Amino acid sequence: MNYAKDLINFIDHSPTMFQATAQLKKRLDEAGFEELSMTQIWSLNQKEGYYVSFNDSSLIAFRIGTKDCSGFHLIGAHTDSPLLKIKPSPMITSQGYTKLNVEIYGGPLLDTWFDRPLSLAGRVILDEKTLLSLPVDLKRELLIIPSLAIHLSKDEKGDLNPQKELLPLFSGKELEEESLLQLLAEELGIGKEMILDYELYCYPTEKGCFIGEKNEFISIGRLDNLGMCHAGLQALIEASPSNRTQVLACFDNEEVGSLSAQGAGSGLLRNVLHKISLSRNLKEEEHLCRIYDSFMMSCDQAHGVHPNYEEKADPTNRPKLGGGPVIKISARKAYTSDALGIALCKKLCKENNIPYQTFANPSDMRGGSTIGPISEGQTSIKGMDLGIALLGMHSVRELQAAEDQGHFISLLRAFLEH
Ligand code: ZN
Repeated sequence: MNYAKDLINFIDHSPTMFQATAQLKKRLDEAGFEELSMTQIWSLNQKEGYYVSFNDSSLIAFRIGTKDCSGFHLIGAHTDSPLLKIKPSPMITSQGYTKLNVEIYGGPLLDTWFDRPLSLAGRVILDEKTLLSLPVDLKRELLIIPSLAIHLSKDEKGDLNPQKELLPLFSGKELEEESLLQLLAEELGIGKEMILDYELYCYPTEKGCFIGEKNEFISIGRLDNLGMCHAGLQALIEASPSNRTQVLACFDNEEVGSLSAQGAGSGLLRNVLHKISLSRNLKEEEHLCRIYDSFMMSCDQAHGVHPNYEEKADPTNRPKLGGGPVIKISARKAYTSDALGIALCKKLCKENNIPYQTFANPSDMRGGSTIGPISEGQTSIKGMDLGIALLGMHSVRELQAAEDQGHFISLLRAFLEH
């Protein structure tokens, strides 16, 4: 299987966390996994696969192992990426135009959002017998944030004001919110009066591509962190059943701190693991024994050394695109990795001929964090942090090496089967 090509396809169809979750569900359905609900009593069979989604934006999938008392082997990732979110009552008219009022979701590289065709995707809530949440993607080029010409801006280079400068242009006429609702209703084939509310995000419509002398790179948005959702899903689907129950947890809201009912800071994963044990008739104490015999690979992208900014990388830990999975290490515990977890990862790489490299932040820079420490805090399950080396993280287009995707999937599959 050409993993890099499949990754581009997966991301192109996942403009927001809602479409990403729908893509994960579709692929799990095709692989024979059964959908469950958190509000049901579960009855689960060994060696079979199941999944549960929450808020239509996070998803936990698992395959029941053959020894119920063995601990879980988990892969963690996140479905959300930095985006521009449409505010309520978004129409702003000015000079005969209509702009949309947006706020920033997460930490995008704002400069990269200018002068690109944008569309809208997210979900709408419909007024049915019960409230119905539906993913929606308008797909077509609809919005653009025009730059200010250099002749008018050369004297005033300062911080970008998102409330003033980042508002996408929607129409050459002055319009009301009805016209936006009409577009959503047409896309869904319903009457616009059925739409009670929406969560919509702008996204760039340009598709992903291979690039470089040997097509060795992938250029596409949202590699952070849909690249890891894709790798985790592929590893879970391909893995043979093992003694241990194999779990993939893809959380929403990592980019804004994970503190939501569908984020890694919630009890969602803890509750799913508990329900799995109860459904297999384990006692409470047996479940706790399992938790302390479990391990999580927390997967989130890493920074590669940038050839134009070598001084921004640590002097001795300089991951390169194409150099294989990156183990992330931090003394302040921004990443969960410790020597035992790192040793396990190195062992799996060596046994399966997978190259690997290490990342640490330069000591004069703070760097980012991941779901790893947050999830450890919620579940008490030990873990380690790893990812694939990227350039341009949080840009509208990020860059990774095509071959790294296959290496990463091999490592995760070996971990699940270990
Ligand atoms: Zn991330």
